[in-house]
Amino acid sequence: MRAVSDLILRIAVPSPLDRTFDYLPPPGCDLATLQPGLRVRVPFGRRHVVGFLLELGTDTTLNPTALRPAQAVLDTEAVLPADVLALLRWAQRYYHHPPGEVFATALPTLLRQGESTELPAPAPLWQITASGRAALATGPSRAPAQKLLLDYLARCPDGADADTLRAVVRDSTATLRALRAKNWAEPLARPAAILAETACAPRPPPALNAAQAAAVTSVTAELDRFQVFLLEGVTGSGKTEVYLRLIEAVLARDRQALVLTPEIGLTPQLLARFRERLPGPLAVLHSGLSDRERLNAWLLARAGIARVVVGTRSAVFAPLRAPGILIVDEEHDPSFKQQDSFRYHARDLAVVRGRQLGIPVVLGSATPALESRHNAERGRYRLLQLPERVGGGAEAPIEILDVRRQPMAEGLSRPLLERMRIHLARNEQVLLFLNRRGFAPILLCHECGWLSQCRHCDARMTLHLRQRRLICHHCGDSQPVDAACPLCGSVDLRAIGHGTERLEAALRREFPETDLTRMDRDSTRRRGSLEALLADIHNGGRRILIGTQMLAKGHHFPEVTLVGIVDADQGLYGIDFRAGERMAQLVLQVAGRAGRAEKPGVVIIQTHHPDHPLLHVLVSQGYPAFATAALAERQSAWLPPFAHQALLRAEAAEPGRATTFLRAARTLADPYADGIELLGPAPAPMERRAGRFRAHLLLQAARRQDLHRFLESWIARLRAEHADRRVRWSLDIDPAELF
Ligand code: ADP
Ligand code: ZN
Ligand code: ZN
Repeated sequence: MRAVSDLILRIAVPSPLDRTFDYLPPPGCDLATLQPGLRVRVPFGRRHVVGFLLELGTDTTLNPTALRPAQAVLDTEAVLPADVLALLRWAQRYYHHPPGEVFATALPTLLRQGESTELPAPAPLWQITASGRAALATGPSRAPAQKLLLDYLARCPDGADADTLRAVVRDSTATLRALRAKNWAEPLARPAAILAETACAPRPPPALNAAQAAAVTSVTAELDRFQVFLLEGVTGSGKTEVYLRLIEAVLARDRQALVLTPEIGLTPQLLARFRERLPGPLAVLHSGLSDRERLNAWLLARAGIARVVVGTRSAVFAPLRAPGILIVDEEHDPSFKQQDSFRYHARDLAVVRGRQLGIPVVLGSATPALESRHNAERGRYRLLQLPERVGGGAEAPIEILDVRRQPMAEGLSRPLLERMRIHLARNEQVLLFLNRRGFAPILLCHECGWLSQCRHCDARMTLHLRQRRLICHHCGDSQPVDAACPLCGSVDLRAIGHGTERLEAALRREFPETDLTRMDRDSTRRRGSLEALLADIHNGGRRILIGTQMLAKGHHFPEVTLVGIVDADQGLYGIDFRAGERMAQLVLQVAGRAGRAEKPGVVIIQTHHPDHPLLHVLVSQGYPAFATAALAERQSAWLPPFAHQALLRAEAAEPGRATTFLRAARTLADPYADGIELLGPAPAPMERRAGRFRAHLLLQAARRQDLHRFLESWIARLRAEHADRRVRWSLDIDPAELF
């Protein structure tokens, strides 16, 4: 039934239903003030929720007498600027995701709970004291965070506010408290009138080299229009310096800059560098903030007070008053794709946002995603290259070490151990990369064959010896390690395979005289522990570093002259078609952490597949050649970026149910399937996870429009006709992995 009514509010409410809900304006509301982007409190079921006004309409498909009035309008002006609204609407259509969840992603938690959008009161300013300066001169104790903060305060004659200091060290509140207790820092009596006054004198920039200058010139010539630039340059080639220059150019035009980085790349070092060079307060948005901190940073960005916004994935939705440039650092990083619920890709959305705003987008990486390289080859993105490390110095040469038939000691071959000995004897550092934490991935009973199987997943539980627990890395379940086999009672339990913990134990035996640092999620869980580890490493001297991909990003280890990739084989034959690309990116990233101009490093890759063609191209010709070869493989296999994919995932508590659902979904599809290939249903590579059985149906199309036109009608039918509430399903557009 269709009826005409005066004014209908179409509202996105926090619900997984793929639709908006119609309401009447609240009684007594001034209709002239209503506009999209306002938050509205509405009755929903038996609760009241904060919804988001998306559209004003004049008709409804409901019986108008059944319409309920909204309770209250919470804002006088739109919470989100028009461009973010447009981006969210685009994302909602492209990802075929329910509007309530899409809009929830863009709003800080407190705003979703109805909190006001008033700007926070300016924070008090902190200043270094005379005794603080004295302490700094003599080198303050063994607390790296305190030293970092003091060092920073020493360069701020007018003091710095807590927000600014938060960007310098991670646990700035505790550190400030410690500094204050020692009387090395104190709050200034007079708080700053406005935040913008709190900036410290920016540090002078270095003169650009020719490649950097060319890159900066290309982008600054296009500041008034949309263009995507792919900035490709090895680690240390000066990409961050290029970002800083571009941001300065944008700030000079009174515009703002948004910089996205992977979570793991958002280090205190990076932020300190931004703070040193750029005037004005910086808004930082990442998952480690409290709700209040996040809201404050968000509001400062929205008000245009924070002129530079640095954040992880969801910061792509950050509101900006005068956006001037979007920068995505480490654009190939898988963490830009959200892996649950609303599965958007922040890099891809940054490109969309740039296009909608008519401003440049800069994607930077030492190892660009194959998708991005392909776009550059087709001329859709402009390729800017920084071919050399700043200050010269060759890139670390990479050697393949064939470990077939070699005796291995805890995953390490003799030749690798020998090479380590040589570098350590020269008082240099050695870095070993192994992307698997814990002691061993499997615990096996030698007597009866029992395996440390997870009760909820098709996966083994990893042995963590230090915690004396078996932990499932997929569902998080854990249990204590028994001394005897739970099946047969034998005490002959054996740890199979290697994780970083086991590597550490083996190396302590092999090199008892050498200091050793392990960096992974387990060893850096405590706040401040990462900074402490890093400071220790930077003190130099011979030392072995062991780490997972946490080592691969953000940090630089100039004293490292030998990098060992302990196990490249996981990456070469992974089930995912992106496994090879990931392996290449990780190897080069780890390699890029090491050495410096006058003391370059060497990289050694242990593998059982020394003749793997892509590995060869990577080692002998470098990443660009690898990317070309890998793209050719993708093209002949008709894989992305040459085909466009969507994955319909389903899961249920009972085996078979998800597959039945997908089979039905497939029959719903047939009459529409034009230019679409449907593959499956098939069980997920890990069929059971966290107690649920999972399966999926893969869709492929040569043309993106075909895929989306198809999905539009198919997903609508699926939502309308799908009745089995015991099956949970979701759609993943441009899936990054098939798990
Ligand atoms: P990337 O982001 O590509 O890893 P960075 O921008 O961090 O590279 O540069 C690496 C190092 O070289 C940094 O210490 C930086 O301060 C320095 N650097 C960058 N550009 C220049 C330059 N033109 N002259 C001197 N030093 C530079
Ligand atoms: Zn047994
Ligand atoms: Zn599990």
